[in-house]
Amino acid sequence: MSKVQADLHTHTVASGHAFSTFLENAEHAARVGLTLMGVTDHGPALPGGAHPFHFWNLRVLPRVLDGVKILRSVEANIMSADGDIDLKEEFMDAVDIVQAGMHGPCGYEGGNRTENTDVYIRVMDNPRVRVLVHPNTLQFPVDCEALVAAADDKGVLIELNNASMLTAREGSVPYLEEMVAALAQADSDILLASDAHLATDVGRVEEVRRIVSQKGIDDRRILNFDADRLLERLGVKAEVFIES
Ligand SMILES: [Zn+2]
Ligand SMILES: [Zn+2]
Repeated sequence: MSKVQADLHTHTVASGHAFSTFLENAEHAARVGLTLMGVTDHGPALPGGAHPFHFWNLRVLPRVLDGVKILRSVEANIMSADGDIDLKEEFMDAVDIVQAGMHGPCGYEGGNRTENTDVYIRVMDNPRVRVLVHPNTLQFPVDCEALVAAADDKGVLIELNNASMLTAREGSVPYLEEMVAALAQADSDILLASDAHLATDVGRVEEVRRIVSQKGIDDRRILNFDADRLLERLGVKAEVFIES
């Protein structure tokens, strides 16, 4: 069985409603054999989310810790139907990639499938955005085929979120399954993520992986099993992880 090397979506106490520190997350990542971990705290618009200075100061994090490459990221909030996000360019110097998503209390409260899809497509016009987190939920349904086609076209990855199978986004599992089916159909690359809000969940993707397997998707398409290929796909250079 292929082994999970990468988890791009983890939260620290800086998110306001998560319970572990960066060091605790990284330690767990090393323990479970990850070689790449994204630090992806919530953007400032989410109540309790990290202050813009947090993202500016991601520069203090080590590039590699206990053999785990540390990707500096943000789970940015989509603020309006225009697709603007809540972290301004002036705080982005230390951010390797932006991952963007819709969260209820952040300005964009959702529309019908077509409207939500159009908003995500506008968000992907921002070259910093490399991943859409948990698209297609009960609250924010999309036209999966159209979104997958647009994401493939723009080189953006669609995340399949393990927390949606557990405690987050109630009622969204059928929506997640719908997205997996669309990705399977389009022959797209697959990105799984834990969305851990506790260190012991870092690297945990087995529940969502089960759905991926059920839809007949070959392990070779799952980017989490090959961290180098994933970084290449994200446009992040290997040199980034050399300490200066
Ligand atoms: Zn989220
Ligand atoms: Zn998250």
